[in-house]
Amino acid sequence: MKLKIPFDEIKDAIEQASYEHHYFIDKKNQKIVFISEVEDVHEKKLEEVENDDFICIEPRMPNEDFSVMQSFVYEIRDFNLARKFHEALEKRKPFRNFKELINQNPDLTEKWFKHRDKELTNEAMNWLCINDIELEDKSFMPKIEIKELKPGEVKLPEEFKDFGPVACMKCNNKEGFKTRYFELNVPSENMLIEKETERIMKEKYGIQDYGHICGGEKEILTSSECPKCKSKEIFEDF
Ligand SMILES: [Zn+2]
Repeated sequence: MKLKIPFDEIKDAIEQASYEHHYFIDKKNQKIVFISEVEDVHEKKLEEVENDDFICIEPRMPNEDFSVMQSFVYEIRDFNLARKFHEALEKRKPFRNFKELINQNPDLTEKWFKHRDKELTNEAMNWLCINDIELEDKSFMPKIEIKELKPGEVKLPEEFKDFGPVACMKCNNKEGFKTRYFELNVPSENMLIEKETERIMKEKYGIQDYGHICGGEKEILTSSECPKCKSKEIFEDF
């Protein structure tokens, strides 16, 4: 389904949706409908949107906000500070503890808001993918570029030095594999990026099965081919 609604409006609705604040996509009128429990007529309004012309945006759960805080803690470079944040999330009232620590470390405030915004963007992009919605204005989508690397250009992260094809899943051959490496310009951090990556790999390189190697400067995609049966379904391991 194609919608004319701007991405940021959908993202805001996903962020704000709760058991008190209901958000729906009105497919016919191409807009977002907001119904608050505070309104006297909210029950009647909620009945009106109970049909196929509307898509409900599910309430945001506290555990979703919790995992956004958790993933932020993993990005803190200062070990002692990271430990403080980690402990704050383990104790009672983790949301309040976290907020207090952010307030005590003003240099982290901007990073935190950026991180939260990035996570919400990914959530919104996943939501669009799951609901099979295509937005008319695609300016929110990063431009995805995949280029094949020449043997000398491949720089794998240290821990992936021994990673490679081990066995063909079709014929069980264990040797002579040819591996191609590709560089992805953006991290594949949500389902829309993954879907677009799949499309480009298939259309540009004719490859449907590939692996991801993360941890380096850029994400690397790998694809191996069996010399005996030409299958690309190859088991890779260390
Ligand atoms: Zn094979």
